Amino acid sequence: PNLINQIAAGEVIERPASVVKELVENSIDAGSHRIEVTIAGGGTELIRISDDGCGMTAEQLPLAIASHATSKLPDDDSLFSVRTLGFRGEALASIGSVSHMTIRSRTEGDNCGSEVQVRGGVIEAPAPCGCPVGTVIEIKNLFFNTPVRHRFLKTAGTERGHIVEAFTRLALANPQVHFVLINNDKIVYDLPVSTRWSDRIGAFFGDEVASVLIPIRDDSDNVRISGYVCDPSVSRGNNRMQYLFLNGRHIRDRSLQHALGEAYRGLLMVGRFPVCFLRMDMPPEMIDVNVHPTKLEVRFTDGGKVYARLLQTLRHQFLRTDM
Ligand code: ADP
Ligand code: MG
Repeated sequence: PNLINQIAAGEVIERPASVVKELVENSIDAGSHRIEVTIAGGGTELIRISDDGCGMTAEQLPLAIASHATSKLPDDDSLFSVRTLGFRGEALASIGSVSHMTIRSRTEGDNCGSEVQVRGGVIEAPAPCGCPVGTVIEIKNLFFNTPVRHRFLKTAGTERGHIVEAFTRLALANPQVHFVLINNDKIVYDLPVSTRWSDRIGAFFGDEVASVLIPIRDDSDNVRISGYVCDPSVSRGNNRMQYLFLNGRHIRDRSLQHALGEAYRGLLMVGRFPVCFLRMDMPPEMIDVNVHPTKLEVRFTDGGKVYARLLQTLRHQFLRTDM
């Protein structure tokens, strides 16, 4: 079974940033109000995620680590029809199979927590421990038993960059959660709950971006588009500052990026890309699921319609206010 988990890990856990993404998603699913991410050595030495969510009991802990054990029970494969971010019960088993993982967790109903250690997929019996309500998961020696993965790790600086990007996407998608990122004992981000999305955007990208946000909102036909595009005076040499969230998840989508470029046509110099923070919400039936285990890519059942809709909204609202 550990080999199978390692293979699954190969798909889901590409690098330290994937661990951060999976664990933070679990913390969000657990209803946490505050999530703290601590890393050292670009995540290869240490990744620690602490949350104040619902926690797990001593009985639940070993189950949570077993593969394909999920407490979230999707009724089918349909990723976007489940409200929670996790859906396969694969992450903890996968991460535990390729690292030294310690989990400490306590539920509100228990007056004592439990701790469990997993080393390369071998699970120890849970032991009682003192801890606050919530969960702390610590990952050390990532990929210690998968030499190829280990060899493909980049420098600590590069891996840290990927973690910061994963953290940014999660924190942008969830302004209702207080997020903290600590790298090598230094606080990188401490982001209190933001009632306005623009506050969280500003916390990441500063006034240069926050001061030129143009609100976009369109609510018809089951498809809601909301968020901000940036004034053309703020542009980038690549499209990495185009943050798109579909039903609460960060996505990258070529066709939507293209629609964005079209809306800015003539307003930006060649080779410049607009900056935007857009959320789209639509019924799960409109989204094709499960394209890739990391859930980054999606397909729309009617891609043309979604494209046209975004372009139209941008043209009407953004160009009208500006031109
Ligand atoms: P999935 O998220 O798809 O259910 P995971 O392997 O990521 O699968 O997690 C397995 C289970 O462990 C979850 O369904 C959940 O019950 C439990 N779990 C994981 N992380 C947390 C957490 N931070 N707080 C509470 N429960 C958790
Ligand atoms: Mg999960």
